[in-house]
Amino acid sequence: MDRGVMRETTRDFVKYYNPKLHGELRLDTNTNVLGSNPAAAKYLKEHSWDLNGYPNTYSDGLRSALAELYGLEMDNIIAGNGSDEMLDVVFKTFTNMGDNSVVPVPSYTLYDYFVKLNGGKAIEVDLTEDFQLDVDAMVKQDAKIAIMPSPNNPTGNCFRPKDIEEVLSRFNGIVVVDEAYAEYSDNPFVKRVEEFDNLVVLRTFSKAYAMAALRVGYAVTNKKLSDMMICVKIPYSLNMVSEGAAIAAVKDQEFVRKSVQMVREQRPKLDAGLRKLGFETFPSDSNFIMARSPIDHKVLVDGLKERGVLIRDFGAKRRTENCVRTTVGTAEDNALLLEKAEEVISGCR
Ligand SMILES: *Cc1c(COP(=O)(O)O)cnc(C)c1O
Repeated sequence: MDRGVMRETTRDFVKYYNPKLHGELRLDTNTNVLGSNPAAAKYLKEHSWDLNGYPNTYSDGLRSALAELYGLEMDNIIAGNGSDEMLDVVFKTFTNMGDNSVVPVPSYTLYDYFVKLNGGKAIEVDLTEDFQLDVDAMVKQDAKIAIMPSPNNPTGNCFRPKDIEEVLSRFNGIVVVDEAYAEYSDNPFVKRVEEFDNLVVLRTFSKAYAMAALRVGYAVTNKKLSDMMICVKIPYSLNMVSEGAAIAAVKDQEFVRKSVQMVREQRPKLDAGLRKLGFETFPSDSNFIMARSPIDHKVLVDGLKERGVLIRDFGAKRRTENCVRTTVGTAEDNALLLEKAEEVISGCR
């Protein structure tokens, strides 16, 4: 059979990023370079579970812990299997087949996937020259949802809060602000969900919390919208083991604080090192830096891989021509990256 048997909007899908690994230093996924979240690891080591019992249907334990963290109520929060599940729930809850959603370019590649997965169409609206929101172009679209990551992935910058507020007030639909990297930035929207009737904020344990392996994410929104979303979400989608580890991590913020501090110290140094090698770097409010390569992007990324360092290639895409994205590592990680990049670059001259 050919792909004509598939849902129309999914026929052009290809598999997601899945590199073959040979023990490289991973600066390609923006996870926490300090390793596993210690509170979560301790919890997993010291607990056992009744494997025959279902988890709490809606992860009430985690939702309560998060409500306390943000000064909100449990009913403002929906928890699930990664913020990727929450993205799916957003489109499942608020779009019909054929509905439009507004997606900025460049931003997270999985938005287009989740829109189409749910039978919708992504209307791509370019960011401005300095990678900020083009508010007028976004709000005039006939669409059910406008979605954006802030800080943005792959560019690294936050959008101006006043621009997001303007989208919230002028766009006639749900506005999703994906705060996957907001621990590293200022002015998050997560605590402000009751101010707006159309704001959904997404958060994850995969980045600053250093728990990507356990797949935990959540959405935060006003109680009316959360009541709709929670009914659509697959019951039990967050397993009991991951939920317990996430609760332990929420209650011990020291590691996240330390991780954010490390990034704030190392980011300007890595930025300067990249510039010295001829990269054009872009301002970052997150734990990664996007940079335009002084040599061909593919030669750089492949050369680094051969030398044991993985970074992510965005160089073949519109608006990020010849750009790569690297996670901000520890001082040692960054020194290794810069040393290997210099080797690859000098080999090209
Ligand atoms: C990494 C990332 C996520 C995280 O997804 P999970 O499913 O929670 O691992 C979400 N949004 C953006 C923009 C990301 O970069």
